[in-house]
Amino acid sequence: MVNCVCPAYSTPGFTRSKLQGCLCYSCSGSSLTDLESTGRAERNRGYDQEGNPASDVVLLKQIDFWTRPGQLNQTVDIEVSDEDFEKLSLVLKEHAGMELTIQIDNLQQLINEQLEQNKASARNDLLKAEQITDKLEEMRRSSGGLAEIFELGKKGKGRKRVKRGKGKKKTLRAIKISIDDDKPVFFIQCGIHAREWISPATCINLSSFALYATTHITAFQISFTTVLCFNFFDTQMIQKSASDASAMLNKMSFVILPVFNPDGYEYTWTNDGRMWRKNRRKNKKSSRCVGVDLNRNWSYKWGGEGASPNECDQTYRGKKAFSEKETKSVSKYLEGLNKQGRLKGFIDFHAFSQMWFIPWGYTSTKTNDHEEQMRVAKIAVEAIRRKHGKSYKYGSSAVLLYKAAGGSEDWTYGSLGVKYSFTVELPPRGANPGFILPPSQIITTGEEIFEGLKALVTAMRI
Ligand SMILES: [Zn+2]
Repeated sequence: MVNCVCPAYSTPGFTRSKLQGCLCYSCSGSSLTDLESTGRAERNRGYDQEGNPASDVVLLKQIDFWTRPGQLNQTVDIEVSDEDFEKLSLVLKEHAGMELTIQIDNLQQLINEQLEQNKASARNDLLKAEQITDKLEEMRRSSGGLAEIFELGKKGKGRKRVKRGKGKKKTLRAIKISIDDDKPVFFIQCGIHAREWISPATCINLSSFALYATTHITAFQISFTTVLCFNFFDTQMIQKSASDASAMLNKMSFVILPVFNPDGYEYTWTNDGRMWRKNRRKNKKSSRCVGVDLNRNWSYKWGGEGASPNECDQTYRGKKAFSEKETKSVSKYLEGLNKQGRLKGFIDFHAFSQMWFIPWGYTSTKTNDHEEQMRVAKIAVEAIRRKHGKSYKYGSSAVLLYKAAGGSEDWTYGSLGVKYSFTVELPPRGANPGFILPPSQIITTGEEIFEGLKALVTAMRI
């Protein structure tokens, strides 16, 4: 894992070479698509004097961008093998004048440590998809009938209850926590990108808090089972949060989908798959390249900047908008809620970098609701900071980072008109440890995000 700083075009000695042509694109603010397309084009027509593919360009295909190139002088984080690092650093330093810093020297070791820590923890903070199903069931059972679990994409308005253990890989199982079925709905989704493990864990923790509050509101005696279910939280903290959350649940119902990308998430628990981002769709039969980026597959401005048409790319947008079962099922459900006039809030949780994004993602132009979206985003990040001191930037992703079309939040805002649509990048801030956040930080992340959500919901004018 290294990061490198893009030089400005005017960097002295910046002359075009076969690889610099590509880097030049990445630094100009264009997307990885351009970078990779350039690499492919160069490779296809053969680059070196012998007519073989240029090794430097081929090398590009082996780089996994953890954070994507967007603006001049912005740091990007990339994952590269030991062997390729030597070649890459030579090219980047000597030809492009970029500075490289090693952030994680041995990624596999860090991955192993994370899993070991998780095993050793009594709380078992990181859960496989199947364990998440069990956890949801546990919550439902202890809710006194106030929580409902259902599958999105099923007939019956997607609200059919399902029995545990019947799930297939692609089952999108959500939990609804509500004290009144007629209330406006806040929809929260996690894990659309498989390797961002802090995201599903945060959805589970948010569900726990909200559910506790539900039982609190209805004056249920907290049974021994319920206490057991929430035993990983400090009791006093729970009580305070529960009373705070009462107002939240009096205002809205919450539907939470912890694992948006079930087969991708499952794959990240295998030996080879920890860094997988997309779903596991088999693309063309002849292609070795698997998966669609589910956060480039939504229909609003689908196919624009930052979404690749090439199925081998990490940001592959799919053959058409909503080509994937996951995006199709969730969007249909959200459309249904919206037709009833009940969908009022939306958050898509990602990792990493500690940012609270408002629309748009596809363009840096401001939305018509820019002031209001910035107002509530500010309130949310201030509440987060008050909890454990962590600071989040806020604004549109197109301005803060890079443009990316076909994302979920652009669709809920642009197509459905949900003003309070956000994408949140959870901790950590930087590439070390990047996607491999220690399990010990999962609870604190849940706590601070719950504070942010609570403040946001209170501030929403609906
Ligand atoms: Zn993501």
